[in-house]
Amino acid sequence: MKLLFIVLDGLGDRPIDELGGKTPLEYANTPNMDKLASLGMNGLLHVIGPGITPGSDTAHLALFGVDPFEYYTGRGPFEAAGIGLEVKEGDVAFRTNFATINNNGIITDRRAGRIREGTEELVALFNGMEIDGIKILLKAGTEHRAALVLRGEGLSDKVSENDPHVEGKEPLEFKTLDNSYEAKKTAEVLTKFVLKAKSILSETDFNKKRKEDGLLQANYFLIRGAGQVPKLPNFEKEYCLETACIAGGGLYKGVGRMLGMHIIEDSRLTGGTNTDLKVKFDITYKALQDYDFVFTHIKGTDNFSHDGKPVEKAKFIEMVDKEMKRFLPDNIERDLVIMVTGDHSSPCSFKDHSADPVPIIVYSKDCRKDDVEKFGETYAARGNLGHLMGKDIMGIALNEMRLVHKFGS
Ligand code: ZN
Ligand code: ZN
Repeated sequence: MKLLFIVLDGLGDRPIDELGGKTPLEYANTPNMDKLASLGMNGLLHVIGPGITPGSDTAHLALFGVDPFEYYTGRGPFEAAGIGLEVKEGDVAFRTNFATINNNGIITDRRAGRIREGTEELVALFNGMEIDGIKILLKAGTEHRAALVLRGEGLSDKVSENDPHVEGKEPLEFKTLDNSYEAKKTAEVLTKFVLKAKSILSETDFNKKRKEDGLLQANYFLIRGAGQVPKLPNFEKEYCLETACIAGGGLYKGVGRMLGMHIIEDSRLTGGTNTDLKVKFDITYKALQDYDFVFTHIKGTDNFSHDGKPVEKAKFIEMVDKEMKRFLPDNIERDLVIMVTGDHSSPCSFKDHSADPVPIIVYSKDCRKDDVEKFGETYAARGNLGHLMGKDIMGIALNEMRLVHKFGS
């Protein structure tokens, strides 16, 4: 028996006047999710815990049964792993942006005009460089983004960022967040790296050409999200399931990769609202032949929430619903356990994440179905799964797959 786990990022929401007092999920016309809800078990999921607002990174760890309080050190390692930078336990990883700084040392654009092309050429100038015995690893991501990894002895993630998060200011100094020697050393290496990078970047033909063309130069690194790479449990070994991760966003691929999942890449999966949902679910369908467990992540719902667009969020949910039809029991031959949920709520009225629990469906052919008939926050509250914690759901899915070992004799 195989497991399909579909996560709609930021799925949960609150009632919205514009939608007649319904949430976007309740407002959306979702015959296929409703069918699954009516055949399955429903509940509300506190992904990390009641009253805790998850980030997407900590939320996904919890959904896979990994305690974020124990393992989460920062976003950097997941972003780095997500774009394919091989990270090792003990490395300190950061998210970085190419930015534009003027001759007076003022950040004029935090994203170097959302530069699209040529950043691979720029990162190659620094990749492998050593500063005070610490190796610099750099890899370009999408647009102005890149990941930075420091590798060597005596490093720490207890350092602040240099990103002022507004334009028209000087970059911040890297500060230590504790009194350790390691934090001091890390801050020094970062400071030296940023200064050195600034002078090298300004002299590149690439940036000279950009200047001539009236484009913003990519001549500075803003660095944030420090995290020491943790040793995470290997998901496949833990659960003995060959696992595929299908996601567009680097963060989700990073979480999957660090947990030992197989990452299925396709450039048409953008991790945004413009992703090709048909392709995503074609890949999902195919992956179910090759893997025991397929995790499919959909980001667009959260993006519409952050933009405060409930109607668009509902429309996007409808598009996802359409693609899910092929997994309904009448349309698929194999026995599938299906879980559908979100990684957290993102109410459009908050334009951010909230601690509200998210609805979850767990379906298997002979599960103890309840009398919930639609997928939605209000309906799910009446389901027989009640209130669950994120860390519990893998066990519940494995029970449906008949893979849970007896505790005791
Ligand atoms: Zn999220
Ligand atoms: Zn979000």
